[in-house]
This record gives sequence, structure tokens and C-alpha cells, in this order.
Amino acid sequence: MNKSELQQQDREHLLHPFTDFHELGEQGTRVITGAEGVYITDIDGHKMLDGMSGLWCCNLGYSRREISDAIYEQLNTLPFYNSFFQCTTVPSIELADALAAVAPAHMNNVFFTGSGSEANDTNLRIIRRYWDLMERPEKRIVISRKNAYHGSTIGGASLGGMSGMHKQFQALDYIEHIQQPYWFGEGGDMSPEEFGVYAARCLDEKIQELGPENVAAFIAEPIQGAGGVIIPPETYWPEVKKVLDQYGDILLVIDEVIFGFGRTGEWFGADYYGMQPDLMTFAKAVTNGYFPLGGTMVGDRVAEVIKAKGGEFTHGYTYSAHPAACKAGLATINILRNEKIIENVRENTAPYLAKRWAELADHPIVGEARSLGLVGALELVKDKSSRARFDDKCTAGGVCRDLSIKNGLVMRATGDTMIIAPPLILTKEQVDELVEKARRALDDTAKALA
Ligand SMILES: *Cc1c(COP(=O)(O)O)cnc(C)c1O
Repeated sequence: MNKSELQQQDREHLLHPFTDFHELGEQGTRVITGAEGVYITDIDGHKMLDGMSGLWCCNLGYSRREISDAIYEQLNTLPFYNSFFQCTTVPSIELADALAAVAPAHMNNVFFTGSGSEANDTNLRIIRRYWDLMERPEKRIVISRKNAYHGSTIGGASLGGMSGMHKQFQALDYIEHIQQPYWFGEGGDMSPEEFGVYAARCLDEKIQELGPENVAAFIAEPIQGAGGVIIPPETYWPEVKKVLDQYGDILLVIDEVIFGFGRTGEWFGADYYGMQPDLMTFAKAVTNGYFPLGGTMVGDRVAEVIKAKGGEFTHGYTYSAHPAACKAGLATINILRNEKIIENVRENTAPYLAKRWAELADHPIVGEARSLGLVGALELVKDKSSRARFDDKCTAGGVCRDLSIKNGLVMRATGDTMIIAPPLILTKEQVDELVEKARRALDDTAKALA
């Protein structure tokens, strides 16, 4: 089939996730056919630097035979067996052990799922089970944040705080949303430091409003990813810690689906910010995107209760701890460790990206250029001093994304915020290429919008 035939069949039969079908019908999909290292190629032979690591998952790029070989070998040995009803497989034990070794010291147990959304549903089940076993059944409410992304199942989407999603389904009624720490968009006249404290105090205010005896947990991404790479002010996480420590009996869930496995230059975002979560959601990069796998790391205070008290935990998925997925996870962790990928991000690539990315702040249509580890964001504005956008339909973001892809760099637009999360194996030369292509996309966008 040629490109237009493929696009035609795609239109007729494939319902895509997070897609405007009308738009897709008019433009047709981009057909990606190959990848090597940090580059992807489409059906026209157009090669692009993948500034998004697929969908935040291919942190080691696209050419790791160790991972695909490990999956293939497992499929030819024991392609499937479940871990229900007191059964297990060797790869699932090995991966649980490896995860306990890289996770924060107090997290020694894992519950496997097939995705990040499922893992957040699992978190809701574990939170409820824990408080029931603690004989605190009134602790039911989970606090999350506006504009958070925690997945797309009913549980995940209810935890998430994206208004566009909430308009299209009925959310669970025991989840409450508070202010996000988005200084550029919502900080007004406050300094970033003041705003960070303010956003964290909103958690305390909500706990007081609901009654601490009713609050089961608080969930947050270390840095909001899909929401627009929202790097909280430095004061935010220390103040959240203060609030939670003051109560002592509100569980902390950190959703590490994007930041787990090295994106900040530490194994987990929780390590970067010095937080001690009770539950830690992971997925995406755990297998380098080579096989679907997710899960939640469970801290000792929760795991001990769930394991010690009798009675079955009536929760699980057929593909929890799928042996081939676990092999993919093991191969990925081995590469991260053996090749010191995360150390290299921390010591070399992240500081270099920070320096080069910050240069983009001088561009006439950039209101802010921020980065941390290997993520970055650019706020597109019409007027730098007032932070005014071009329009309220986020035209600029879409225009910039399309021009960037045309120039050979995959950036994503979240509204008028351009975001990147390139593979962790990016070299300094590739950082230069990324920044130069991003600048060209900004120039072209400014011209197109003039
Ligand atoms: C992608 C994502 C999820 C959902 O993961 P899926 O594997 O798509 O279900 C959850 N949380 C965060 C922070 C994510 O970025």
C-alpha cells in the first residue's frame, strides 16, 4: 500500500487516542515507518530527531537489541504465565528485585500492571485497602491537582485534572483537585518562590476544608509532563513535605510514569526532590517503550499492612508481571546501570541542555524557556512582558509543532507551550542539533503568525 492508501484505510478503520477525528480526516496521519538511535523516519523518508522519546518512553532510543532479544528469548521459553493464585515466573521475581534495588530505600515491593493508567487504578485500590485494614474507613478522599495527567482509565482520568478530559466522562466522586504549581501561567505578580509556597499551602487548605480524618492520599507528578512540563518552583516540594509531615497520616503518591528511570538525572523524580512517597507509579520508560508494562512501587508502611493482615487483595490484571514485559524491564535497567546513562544525564547532558535551551529565551516569541534534567518547555507569547498569548485558541503551539516536524525535530505542543523530552542517550552534538532546529521552528512560527 502507498501512503495515501494507508491514510485512507487508517481514516476508515482506526480510532486514534487523543485525536480530533475531523482534523485527522482532512490532514491524514503521519505514518512512521522506522527508527534508529534518537531519530525516527516517516513513510516519505523524512528523518526527524525525536525530541519526545516516542511518548516519553524510548529513553534509550530505538536501537537496543539487548531489549528486543530479551523479549524474543522469553517468548520462546515461557511466553506467558500469570502471577495470580500463588503462581509466579522467574522474570517477574528478578524484575521486582531489581526495582526494589533502584527505588528509594523504603520501597521494597511492587505491584505490576500493563500501563500507567492501570497502575494509578491500582493505587486507588491499594489506598482503600490500606485504610480499611488500618480501620480508618472514613479516609476516602484523594487530593490531586488541576491540569495533572494520571492516565485515561476512569480512575486515571478522575485523578487527572484536565478540564477537556473531565468534560467527556463522569469522574469518581472522591477525588478533589487543587491549584497546580504553574508559575508562568498562573503565578500573577508573585515571585516563583512565593507562588511555590502558595500552591503547596493550597494542599493544606484543602485538607482543612475536607477534614484531615477524611483524606486518604495526595497524588502528584514530580513535574507535570503532559500538562506542559510544569517544573514547580524550588519552594514547592519542600513546602508540600512540610504539610504532609504535619499530618503524618496522609499517603503520598508520586506518579513517576514520565520521570522514573532517569529523566531528572536521578532514578526517580522523588529522589531528585527528596520526597518519600508511599506509592510510586511507573510505566513508559521502564521497558524503553519496547513492551507494555507499568506498576506501582509500594513503600514499607503500606506494604507491611497489606501483607501482614489476612484476607485476599481482590485486585490484579491478567498481564500483571507478564514474563516478556519483565524481561524487557530487566534489560532496560541493566543498560541504565551498566552504561551509567543516568549519571551521564546528571553530569553532562542535562547541564549542557540547560545552558543551550536557556538561550532560546531571547527569542521574540518566547516568554519563558525552562528545563530540568532532559525535559524542556518554551512558552510562546505575543508579548514577552505581559506574557500575552497570540490568541485564546492556542494557534501558535500547533503552528510551531508542525513547522518543527517539517524541519526535522519532533516537539509537542501543549496549548501554546512547546515541550521536549528527548532520549537520555542524546549526545551534546545532538543537543546542539535540537536547539538549532527548535530556534528555526520559532523563527518560522514568528513569520507565519506575523
Ligand atoms: C502517560 C502517563 C500515564 C498513563 O500511562 P499509560 O501507560 O498511557 O496508561 C500516567 N501518568 C503519567 C504521569 C503519564 O505521563
